[in-house]
Amino acid sequence: MARVYIKHIIEELINLKMIDYYPLYQLIDRKSLKNNKLIRFNSNKKASDYYCTFCGHTHTGKNVNLHTKLKCPNCGHNFYVLGKHNNIEDVEDYITRYEVNKRKELIARLFYFKKEYDKVEMKYKTQLFEVVRLNVDRDIAIKKDTYWVMCTGWRHAEGYRDWKRDNDRFSYYRDNAFHDCFLYDIVQRTNLKNILSKTKYKYSAMDIVARNGGIDTIGFLRLWEMYPKVELLAKAKCFNLIKDLIYRGNKYSVNGVMKLIEDNKKSLHLIADMDLTVSEFKMAVKYQLKDKKIIKMAVKCDMFLDVKTNQAAKIIQYLGKQNCKCHEYRDYLETAALIGMDLKNSNVRFPKNIHKAHNDVMNKYKVVKDELINKKISDFSKDLEKYIYEDKKLIIKPAQSQQELIDESKQLDHCVRRYGEKMAKRETSIFFIRKKKNIKKSFVTLELKEGRVVQVRGYKNNVHNPLDQSVIDFVHKWEQKFRLEGF
Ligand SMILES: [Zn+2]
Repeated sequence: MARVYIKHIIEELINLKMIDYYPLYQLIDRKSLKNNKLIRFNSNKKASDYYCTFCGHTHTGKNVNLHTKLKCPNCGHNFYVLGKHNNIEDVEDYITRYEVNKRKELIARLFYFKKEYDKVEMKYKTQLFEVVRLNVDRDIAIKKDTYWVMCTGWRHAEGYRDWKRDNDRFSYYRDNAFHDCFLYDIVQRTNLKNILSKTKYKYSAMDIVARNGGIDTIGFLRLWEMYPKVELLAKAKCFNLIKDLIYRGNKYSVNGVMKLIEDNKKSLHLIADMDLTVSEFKMAVKYQLKDKKIIKMAVKCDMFLDVKTNQAAKIIQYLGKQNCKCHEYRDYLETAALIGMDLKNSNVRFPKNIHKAHNDVMNKYKVVKDELINKKISDFSKDLEKYIYEDKKLIIKPAQSQQELIDESKQLDHCVRRYGEKMAKRETSIFFIRKKKNIKKSFVTLELKEGRVVQVRGYKNNVHNPLDQSVIDFVHKWEQKFRLEGF
């Protein structure tokens, strides 16, 4: 056989025969069927005229209500009724069509279509034109009327540019990134099995994948070229698993997954029956699970389970029955441990009602936590007593407890109560400035952080009443005495 050069392949692709577009239009109609609408116009109390964007007929009838479904008397489809000024979404997608060339190589042709609703003419206008041709065996592609727009991606305009070799997207597939070429799920399947049977892809079972829809068929062929066993997955209808392998080929080791399947042939029917993804299958095998709800739960829990326990299967079953989210359970266990409950006790580990038990430990923890914070604020407050200072009228002293902060907040209508935890951690310190003749009544609050006065706040954060001059002078004197700054 004569040697074939790249330029011959490209010429061949350019000179492919025109095809019959009619079947493609039929595919588009099927794809966009649910996007069609009945358009109501000339409506009055007695009757309305309405137009079916699917079959193109105009009817007159009673009770044609906007935003309800109605059956078109001509084509018999149920469509939503819209007013003539409502927007109808465009439908935009690709159709892949396969052929075989004279050397029995597989050729993929990609057609772009867009259906736009024309408000004036009250009908869809369909554009349909060919944009990519790929010699699958040789991974050589040409493109037409195709250009790249930053942020939106590939765009198409008929008559924009003639056939040209494609070097950046449609031909190349990179190691393990199978999902890179034709992410479009509509495949013209007429005769597909027969076409494949003439090519080197005859045992790939790609026609089964194409029948399912929603899977990148070129990506699948690339996957099959490296891992011919995926044919079995296609035949067993493990479509979600196949999708995972195509789309996340680099995330999962395909070999690893294939080996797992090999080692667990008995579970293969499980994947097919429940259409499991890779992670779901891994969980099903790892913990011998058979219920899809529980398998999904296991996927969410996996990290937590591996780290925390060796009773994973038991926990998954338990959470499934309790209808409990993994993070809630984790929260429960951690909090229970914090308040000193015995996690070795199985009544603690698996309470009869996890939601109630979770609530209980959270409430108990709140009490403990408040005590803890109070203790820490009080300890810190003792260290801060060295800053206590007074003149004839005013005194400044540190806050001594969470309760004091809450009282101060209430009296002055500001938010110093939220500083309790920070103060307990010694990240900042809160002082109260009071009038000596009424020492219990809140007057002004001061925050001191790392030797700097950060804020001085009176009633409602001084929004309406500025600080009294006597307070300003007092704070300045206090700063001077203790070599503080900031105010
Ligand atoms: Zn109709």
